[in-house]
Amino acid sequence: DKGIRIEGLTKRYGKGDTAVDALKGVNMTVAPGEVVGLIGPSGSGKSTLLKCLGAVIDPTAGRMMLGDDVIFEDRWIRRDLRALRRDKIGFVFQAPYLIPFLEVIDNVALLPMLAGVPNDEARERALELLAALDVQHRARAMPSQLSGGEQQRVAIARGLVNRPPVILADEPTAPLDSKRALAVIRILNDMAKRFETAIIVVTHDEKIIPTFKRIYHIRDGVTYEEAGEGRGFD
Ligand code: ADP
Ligand code: ADP
Repeated sequence: DKGIRIEGLTKRYGKGDTAVDALKGVNMTVAPGEVVGLIGPSGSGKSTLLKCLGAVIDPTAGRMMLGDDVIFEDRWIRRDLRALRRDKIGFVFQAPYLIPFLEVIDNVALLPMLAGVPNDEARERALELLAALDVQHRARAMPSQLSGGEQQRVAIARGLVNRPPVILADEPTAPLDSKRALAVIRILNDMAKRFETAIIVVTHDEKIIPTFKRIYHIRDGVTYEEAGEGRGFD
């Protein structure tokens, strides 16, 4: 179940005169271990595409595969979409949405704990990621005590901690300075290589766009592939 393949994906919101065709036949592949950028103007369909792939909304038609596993072909093939979201997809949102009454470390460790990883091991994994993101010194703080940038890095740790085969990141570096933004991209690339993760990063952050080897542009619900600069993270 490694890698993403999307073929002819369409999404129509609403019906009749007021229908909106948000995706008009999107094709996209992300290899295991690859981090691709997804770039497009407001209203072009970026969120719709991430929500379809994340099984948050129903596509209208087309095909989506995770590795050799067809998850959608004009309808959902798997019945248990909650399990699909939980086991296969890691989300990193623009706004951090941390749980306000849990310490930082438990915000990150919660998902593996719920998945049955022993508490000590879950916290160890959480600390390792927090260290990689340079916020381990805030592990025992409450989310409200953190700066915006720190909250964002904790949210990134939470999206990665379960090592899902697919990570969907929506503007993950927007509030971060250049050094930290590049650190986040380096971590996403390391994760991708280490666990054969396929990662899509929606962004218009000029600090990180030169790092992608491959970029998909989306405009009016149609994607175009382009080679990126693939410049590295330093
Ligand atoms: P982006 O994330 O690139 O800004 P979206 O995926 O949010 O774009 O939106 C793509 C198109 O779909 C836009 O025309 C938007 O107005 C429309 N759209 C998004 N969500 C809905 C919805 N729930 N109902 C109707 N139209 C929607
Ligand atoms: P960053 O560059 O990571 O966004 P800031 O420069 O904004 O960090 O914050 C520096 C320090 O001040 C951090 O340790 C952060 O936890 C602390 N801090 C920022 N805002 C708040 C706040 N509203 N309450 C408590 N501590 C805060």
